[in-house]
Amino acid sequence: MPEGPEVRKHAAAIHKALAGKPIEVFTARTKGARLWLQEHPNILIGKRVEQVYSHGKHLIGILQDGFYFHSHLMMWGRWQVLPNTEPIPVDRRERARIATADVIAILFSAPVFEVGQGNPVEQVEYLGSLGPDILPYHGSFDTEAFLNRLLKSENQQRTVGAALLDQQIVAGIGNYLRAEILFDCRLDPWKRVSDLEQSAIDCLCRSIPLMAQRAYITSATVPDDLRTRMKGDDSLVYRPGREYGTRHYVFRRTNLPCLHCGDIVRQLRQVTREDEEGERTRIIYFCPTCQGTSVELKKPRAKSKPQVKPDKTEAAPTRKRAG
Ligand SMILES: [Zn+2]
Repeated sequence: MPEGPEVRKHAAAIHKALAGKPIEVFTARTKGARLWLQEHPNILIGKRVEQVYSHGKHLIGILQDGFYFHSHLMMWGRWQVLPNTEPIPVDRRERARIATADVIAILFSAPVFEVGQGNPVEQVEYLGSLGPDILPYHGSFDTEAFLNRLLKSENQQRTVGAALLDQQIVAGIGNYLRAEILFDCRLDPWKRVSDLEQSAIDCLCRSIPLMAQRAYITSATVPDDLRTRMKGDDSLVYRPGREYGTRHYVFRRTNLPCLHCGDIVRQLRQVTREDEEGERTRIIYFCPTCQGTSVELKKPRAKSKPQVKPDKTEAAPTRKRAG
C-alpha cells in the first residue's frame, strides 16, 4: 500500500512528465470529478500543468488559472505515466486521465480523485489539517509541528503505534513505516504517548525523516549492508534468493529472526483510531526483545512459508473516503 515515499515517487514522475505542458485531455470517472467536469466542459483544455506535489499520502496537481486536481491512492491506487504515441484504451480500473501532446498520466483503482478551482488546501477535505510531511520539500522535517501535535492532551493516552498512523500528527506514515520507525527506536508500539521518555521522542524525530528518505531513495528501510546480509543468509529470509522480505527490519518478517538480537519477529493486530483507509486496527510487526513489548504472545511458529498476506488490512479497503 502506498505511503508517503511511494506517493512522492508518483508525484515526482507526474510532475516531470506534465509540468509546463498544456492539457489536451482531462477525464475522470470518480463521481465528484466527473460531475465537476460535466459542469465545466472543456475548461481545463489548454491549461498548463504548473506543479504536481505530494503531502503525506495525498497528491496534488496545480493547474494554470487556479485549477487543481487531488488524488488519494488508498490501498490499491497507482498512477502510471505513458508516452502519448498511440491511443490507450480505457481500462475498467481507470479513474482519471490527463494527457498532453506527448505523455498521458492515468490513475488506476484509486477511489479518491477530485478536481476544482481555488486553493486545494482550503477546499479538499483533510488537506488543511495534515501534520508535517515526512518528506519535506524545503528544509528539514518539522519536528516542532510534529511534537506539538503528538503531545496534545487528547493524544496522551493513545499508543505510539496508533499515533504514528494519525495523518493529523504526521503525514505520510503508513503501516510499514510505523513498524520500521518503532523498531529503529526500539519502542514498544503499545507504549502510551504520555509515557514516552525524552530519548524516545528525540529518536522519533530523527527516525521518521530518515526512514522516509531511505524508503524514497532505495525502496527499503534497512541500509544496504543489511540487505546484503539478508540476501546472503538463508535463515533470515523466507525464500533464499528472493527479494521478498529483504527490505525491512520487521515489517512482514513475521517468524523470522530479528536482525539485531535474533529473537523471532512477531505480528499482532493493534487498535488504532479509524484512519485514512477506514481501518480501526492494523497489524504491527515488532521484535519483543528489542522493543520490550509486554503484550501476551503465542508461541512462535517455526520459519515456514512466506507470510504473503499476513495483514488482512492490506487486502481490502472498507471505506471509500480518504483522510
Ligand atoms: Zn530484536
